[in-house]
Amino acid sequence: MLRIVVLGAAAGGGLPQWNCGCQVCRSARQHPRLQSTQASIAISADDEHWFLINASPDLRQQLTATPRLHPKAGHLRHSPIAGVILTNGEVDAVAGLLSMREGSPFTIYAHARVLAILRSNSIFNVLNENSVKRKAIDMDKTFELKLPDGSGSDIEVRPFAVAGKGAWYLEGTTEGGDADGDTLGLRIADKITGQYFYFVAACAQVTPDLKKRIAGAPLVFFDGTVWRDDELIAAGLGTKTGQRMGHISMSADNGAIAALAELGIARKIFLHINNSNHALLPESAERKTLEQAGWQIPADGTEVIL
Ligand SMILES: [Zn+2]
Repeated sequence: MLRIVVLGAAAGGGLPQWNCGCQVCRSARQHPRLQSTQASIAISADDEHWFLINASPDLRQQLTATPRLHPKAGHLRHSPIAGVILTNGEVDAVAGLLSMREGSPFTIYAHARVLAILRSNSIFNVLNENSVKRKAIDMDKTFELKLPDGSGSDIEVRPFAVAGKGAWYLEGTTEGGDADGDTLGLRIADKITGQYFYFVAACAQVTPDLKKRIAGAPLVFFDGTVWRDDELIAAGLGTKTGQRMGHISMSADNGAIAALAELGIARKIFLHINNSNHALLPESAERKTLEQAGWQIPADGTEVIL
């Protein structure tokens, strides 16, 4: 059995974002139930050992809010977190690692390009490599997540390349430039039951290859950053389109809702939703449209069992 906890559903900045006075952020300050931390999920096959997919800057708050991820009773120092899988090198995917620096052992799984980012930023040396192992993962090679004693977790992961962008803060540097490995999708499966789901929280385009992979899946978490491509520009919040940021829009003919409509996916959940996106407001026309199309926006703490 795979147990999934949505630790956070928002894109970088969270909801509300500290310096944002847009309508969605203002509503979230007024109605705390709308607030959301930055995107990450936790998964477990045994309800005892857990793995995070991405470590958001809100990780400390997310762990405090999630009893399953608290230290086991009777232990002075303990964490049920056995590993973190990174799907890209953006701040909202890696900064939470810095909150995991108190000596507990775990493994970081990431593509070599993302491991290189960690290596070249010396602040990540607070994660001592004697206790925090860093393991490179390859595209289209299935591997099993390991428990701290080296035994198998019964969770198998198959990373694959999706259309995306390299980390923003590397643009224009020698480490920058977009390449395969910058943005990963993951197929995550329970080795015992065979149940599986897909995690594609950053994606610029739904290609025929991606459609083929995810068709018929029981569950897909998918990039929900913006409702429309020019949303940040239209709202006066920024100068970049969703595409320029490496993110597909929810709406439009080539958006996520249309692209995944006929694929026979049983459950579709948006993740990484930017605070400019009015679909975050429960009464909005955008939310109604996506719900009618069979999509959900999860509240932080939402649990899914497969
Ligand atoms: Zn905002």
